Amino acid sequence: MALREDQILRYSRQILLREVGGRGQEALLSERARLDGVGASGLTAAAYLAGGGTPVAGVGSLTLGPWAPGFLASAEDVGQPATELLARALPEVNPDAVGADAGGGLIAELPAAWSGAAPWVALGGDGARAAVVFRGPEGCVWCFGETVRHLTPPPDGALGVALGALGALVFQRLRLGMSEPLGGRWLAAPGEVTELEPRRCARCASRETQSP
Ligand SMILES: [Zn+2]
Repeated sequence: MALREDQILRYSRQILLREVGGRGQEALLSERARLDGVGASGLTAAAYLAGGGTPVAGVGSLTLGPWAPGFLASAEDVGQPATELLARALPEVNPDAVGADAGGGLIAELPAAWSGAAPWVALGGDGARAAVVFRGPEGCVWCFGETVRHLTPPPDGALGVALGALGALVFQRLRLGMSEPLGGRWLAAPGEVTELEPRRCARCASRETQSP
């Protein structure tokens, strides 16, 4: 798929970043992300992904809670299905971020059911900090599961918004092949990012002890 003139203008900031480029932007536009989550982090991630060109589709039957109004939702949306809000609000953020219906990764607020193609990006926390855990196509599914199993749901408020923005960035990096296959980050406060060491599944752990 080739970029149209208006798309080159819309994404010029991203395309100019050497790491993204025209090819990278085409990759971001061509595959969607599935979103499972209606908190501050999930809705913020949806807005950032759509802004960057990735079509986002809601999954599941979650409805919007009283915390939802913000970036995408207004007070009238409370109690409405999240999928309807996303289908209506995201084209306003970016008219390109609609359509693509095949494949796509998953970005979800914990706890969540994980299936389908990578990238997988989990938005969670530990009660004090926010956390993002991610896996690309080469990352171990079981290590990912073992890591997210120990995390709580993500925070709301400003830290949740910051987590959503970080989650969208992580998702885009995975899609562009610019990320390690499995990893995580803690977010103690907006802008305060530290490494989150993923847990090892039994198989990967035994392989590591056997290797010299
Ligand atoms: Zn593993």
